[in-house]
Amino acid sequence: MINRRNFLKTLTGTTIALPSILNANENLKKDIKFDEIADVIIVGSGVSAHICAAYLVKNKLDVLMIEKMDRIGGNSVLSQQDFAVLNSDLQIKAGIKDSEELFLNDLNKAGAGYNHLEHSLRIIRNSNEAYEFAKSCGVKYANKLKFLGGHSVARSVETIGGGGACIKALHEFFLANKGRFKNETKSDEIIQDENAKVIGISVRENYRFDRNLANDDRQNLSGVKKNYKARLAVVFATGGFSRDVEFRSIVNPRLRLAKSPSSLGQTAGALKQMLKIGAIATQLALSRFSFGIPTEDLIYGIMLDKNAKRFLNEDGDRQGLSNKILAHMQNLNTTSYPTIILDSTGFANSHDPNRMQSFIIAGKMKKFDTLDELANYFKLNKDELLKSMQIYEDGIKKNKDEFKKDLSKIKNSSMSKAPFYAMTAAPGLSYTPGGVWADTNMRVLHISNYEPIKGLYAIGEATGGVHGQARLTSCSIPDCMTSGIACAKDILKGI
Ligand SMILES: Cc1cc2nc3c(=O)[nH]c(=O)nc-3n(C[C@H](O)[C@H](O)[C@H](O)COP(=O)(O)OP(=O)(O)OC[C@H]3O[C@@H](n4cnc5c(N)ncnc54)[C@H](O)[C@@H]3O)c2cc1C
Repeated sequence: MINRRNFLKTLTGTTIALPSILNANENLKKDIKFDEIADVIIVGSGVSAHICAAYLVKNKLDVLMIEKMDRIGGNSVLSQQDFAVLNSDLQIKAGIKDSEELFLNDLNKAGAGYNHLEHSLRIIRNSNEAYEFAKSCGVKYANKLKFLGGHSVARSVETIGGGGACIKALHEFFLANKGRFKNETKSDEIIQDENAKVIGISVRENYRFDRNLANDDRQNLSGVKKNYKARLAVVFATGGFSRDVEFRSIVNPRLRLAKSPSSLGQTAGALKQMLKIGAIATQLALSRFSFGIPTEDLIYGIMLDKNAKRFLNEDGDRQGLSNKILAHMQNLNTTSYPTIILDSTGFANSHDPNRMQSFIIAGKMKKFDTLDELANYFKLNKDELLKSMQIYEDGIKKNKDEFKKDLSKIKNSSMSKAPFYAMTAAPGLSYTPGGVWADTNMRVLHISNYEPIKGLYAIGEATGGVHGQARLTSCSIPDCMTSGIACAKDILKGI
């Protein structure tokens, strides 16, 4: 393999400009003083980091996990951690007939051909092993299965206590097995030896994330610089970049307009560190959205833009609707999200009125006795609002919707009976399907030869090309878990 030293050896005393890919690689270093040493360094503290770490410490490796934020768990602690598993004990007990083919079909349908087959199979074939391993580390699952949208059968297990409880259990297991953890410690740069093998990272200890900066990765200089050495491997379990407005606007201008329910630390800094040493970026423009209310309930109402005009058929999946909303906002050149309005009949038809009630209590959804109040609150032109509602009502009477909504599905909902319920319809970017390209052992591949960058792994949401166009519900957790274990096994194999 060509490396900087061999390349320089081929030169005969003349000064020649290095090709940019080598020239840029200032990370190849000798004679570094290291402040910490561990068998494996894991960057990040979400579910992928923890499952990988748990597997490694169970096999007696010395693991140092670092986290840049002041709390552990990244997006994993915010997540419900619904977890799709093929042939789990719960599926077998319930007599549910599931298969590799069925699960793959579901993943392919959601992925729309953008999902790489080998990673879909990695998830499917290893999901039950990962689920059993998580249980053996103390993670608890409810004694029932969920039949979630996009899945052909009930196959998702429910994590009791969601992501918070899962990370707590795994963290306790990790520490009990001599794992070491440091938070407010940010990886800044990957260190390679003269043969381009990854041997550690340069970090800042006592780093304090600053939410007030436009871009924390570029502007935050806090902390004390240190170098950490990894005897065997460095694992990037650094999550996605859904909170990095600057970066996501570059990879897809439409994403600038989205909100994000993600943890503040979901930025692209770690991804850039891997790209800097030659990792391959894949599918960065893709997105996955969530909505404030269940998407299936939007059909009972109408969605109006900032001009109080209807612009779409409210019956759709969250990806399709989110993309249409953001495209419409781009066309209107506005950052104002549309408003979704239901009348009392639509509200009563929602699939879980109690849940809708909880949105009102939380202040996400507002209840109005009059349309004047609604128009004032959402700053909508009252006349346009009435006009849009009338057109919709007329459509119902004639059984012909201007946006071709199948009115037989709205269960006699109308748009005229007070009280009215309304909320902002803001697509929330909760997951970024793009990331670095890795093989199924989660070794990060180099852009020049597609060979593994020695000593570097990436797992979980930090990788790309796994789920494709629209990640299937409850399939990030099996991805994080199976990639974490695959990576741990590959590291152990190399000892
Ligand atoms: C509200 C919500 C609900 C969800 N529900 C589900 C669900 O039910 N089922 C499902 O399958 N998926 C769900 N998801 C998606 C899923 O939770 C995530 O994709 C998954 O938890 C990501 O795990 P991870 O380990 O890859 O990364 P994360 O959990 O995001 O962890 C990455 C960590 O790396 C840290 N980090 C980043 N850069 C650095 C650096 N340079 N140095 C040090 N540390 C760094 C971050 O601060 C973060 O703590 C949900 C997501 C959200 C937001």
